[in-house]
Amino acid sequence: MWGIIANINRNESAAMTVDLHCHSTASDGALPPATLVARAHARGIRLLALTDHDTLEGLDEARNAAARLNLQLVNGIELSCTWGGATIHVLGYAFEPQAPALREAIEALHRGRWQRAEEIDRRLTARGMPGALDGARQIQRELGDSGNAPARPHFAEFLVRAGYVRDRSEAFRKWLGAGKLGDVKQHWPALEETVATLQAAGAWISLAHPWQYDFTRSKRRRLVADFAAAGGHALEVVNGMQPAEQVGSLAILAREFGLMASVGSDFHAPGDWSELGLYRPLPEGLTALWERFEHVQLSTISS
Ligand code: MN
Ligand code: MN
Ligand code: MN
Repeated sequence: MWGIIANINRNESAAMTVDLHCHSTASDGALPPATLVARAHARGIRLLALTDHDTLEGLDEARNAAARLNLQLVNGIELSCTWGGATIHVLGYAFEPQAPALREAIEALHRGRWQRAEEIDRRLTARGMPGALDGARQIQRELGDSGNAPARPHFAEFLVRAGYVRDRSEAFRKWLGAGKLGDVKQHWPALEETVATLQAAGAWISLAHPWQYDFTRSKRRRLVADFAAAGGHALEVVNGMQPAEQVGSLAILAREFGLMASVGSDFHAPGDWSELGLYRPLPEGLTALWERFEHVQLSTISS
């Protein structure tokens, strides 16, 4: 049955049935987990992984909503780490959410994100823009509260509302974007450490959007080699509507390093640049990572 689904998923109609990358209000998405799951179901998705940044907070709500809709939900997370001086994202799936190694890693990331938010607040205050942390928290609460620190999109919205900038893009251009005052570097764990954490929780592990890092081809290839050597299982060969040439190059890398493939929309908000279930077809000749998610009820997916 899995083979059938994997094949279906390689043509366009089935691009709708699996989505292994999306975000809710538990991190930087716009929809609460239950709303996100309902939207995925309405769009024909049968197998969904919620992959919020560095948190498991949305999973219980998503799982309950999925059970009511007969949609298969797989535990997911998108963890930040460093490699070669850059921030890298690693996706973990179908893990044991209570695994101590994972809990501790998330707790450390959580503390780091709060420290970063406080530092952004200090820097903006020093430039005559006080109240940013409270303002960003307020915006988070309006979206559906989580215990996570506000992220740069929340600070951007605060700067707009406080009248310091005209819109969010100006907020990033002037204050929050790469190299600007609000671009506070965080001390993420190393890639190898993050892969080990996910392994300790029994996760299936995929390297998120390998094309999004600002790397040369040879550096990207080294990243994939190190990820495979560390014990990673898959590349996210398809991330939303990224150019087809990139998908093709990533498929070649996956085959070269003997890695499986994962697919996902990286959905954050309705009307944004992505949509649930919307991504380019997976090229032929790759093994779908989700065929390994053993606890998923196969009959439900393939019916
Ligand atoms: Mn995000
Ligand atoms: Mn990412
Ligand atoms: Mn993402």
